[in-house]
Amino acid sequence: MKELKELARPNVWALQPYSSARDEYSGVEASVFLDANENPFHAPYNRYPDPLQKELKELIASLKGVRRKQIFLGNGSDEAIDLVFRTFCKPGVDNVVAIDPTYGMYQVCADVNDVEYRKVLLDANYHFTADKVMLSVDENTKAIFLCSPNNPTGNNLGRQEIEKLLETFEGLVVVDEAYIDFSDARSFLLDLDKYPNLIVLQTFSKAWGCAAIRLGMAFASEAIIDLFNKIKYPYNVNELTQRQAIELLKSPEKVKEWVEILLKERERVMSEFVKLNCCRRVFPSDANFFLTKVKDAKLAYAYLVSQGIIVRNRTNIALCGDCLRITIGTPEENDKLLEALKSYIE
Ligand SMILES: *Cc1c(COP(=O)(O)O)cnc(C)c1O
Repeated sequence: MKELKELARPNVWALQPYSSARDEYSGVEASVFLDANENPFHAPYNRYPDPLQKELKELIASLKGVRRKQIFLGNGSDEAIDLVFRTFCKPGVDNVVAIDPTYGMYQVCADVNDVEYRKVLLDANYHFTADKVMLSVDENTKAIFLCSPNNPTGNNLGRQEIEKLLETFEGLVVVDEAYIDFSDARSFLLDLDKYPNLIVLQTFSKAWGCAAIRLGMAFASEAIIDLFNKIKYPYNVNELTQRQAIELLKSPEKVKEWVEILLKERERVMSEFVKLNCCRRVFPSDANFFLTKVKDAKLAYAYLVSQGIIVRNRTNIALCGDCLRITIGTPEENDKLLEALKSYIE
């Protein structure tokens, strides 16, 4: 890996960050807080939240087996993705490389930040090789984005290929594990100390059932996390979100139960799907959704809408012609989907 100083944007490296009242005094012994121009009434929402979310991070650290200072929390994973660009990529100069097809936010953040986005097409089975990705890398490539299990294809990427990139690429490798709780694959979280160029993304939006609270996690070396903390908005994770997440982290067995149900349902729905008239193919899934090729995705999508059922039409995405991406719902919701498609005549 290149020196972090060489990878980071010079202005970010040199930045003197905003210092908030809560940064300057964060002890707990004091009882009179007259430092932040808050209203003394309407506790607890009158107070600014902890800018570094220490209590919440301690719980996450012990659950995930990492150190607190290896964690960044943001307003969804989307904030962490955007911070990769804002921290490391010089607009108009640097570039990033990503597999294609994959999660759309990487490209949107690249475009917003005026950073060239280089796509490397997956093979017909939605896998990639490190060698092919490296062909798109040049001296201005700051990061490679990988998503495993991948969205919208649903499959785990090959672990060995990811490791090869971590070992040969001199910039950052972002592994987005938004769906890792639904997968048998081993998380790259356990390899943070081995690879200083690794950034792992996870989220409360999927298995944790908290898309509404907007809480995303990035895990990386302390040095990388320090840079993110330097340029993030001071109070980027609000108090309501921190409290709800702390509450949920006290009963992680709830999440396990949900995942078990969803994995069983995934099995059932996928095996019913291959029997459907309109279904041409069901792709293997390691996530809480699956990709299916149908006879005519546009027609099938419109039919399902007419039945009050919304899925994602991915037909215009690379390698996904006539494909629908279907999220696993409750058993009742899945039954409705299957019933509707059983009586669907193209
Ligand atoms: C859903 C999803 C996320 C989650 O984003 P949030 O901003 O945390 O809700 C991240 N990455 C991928 C690949 C996703 O599909």
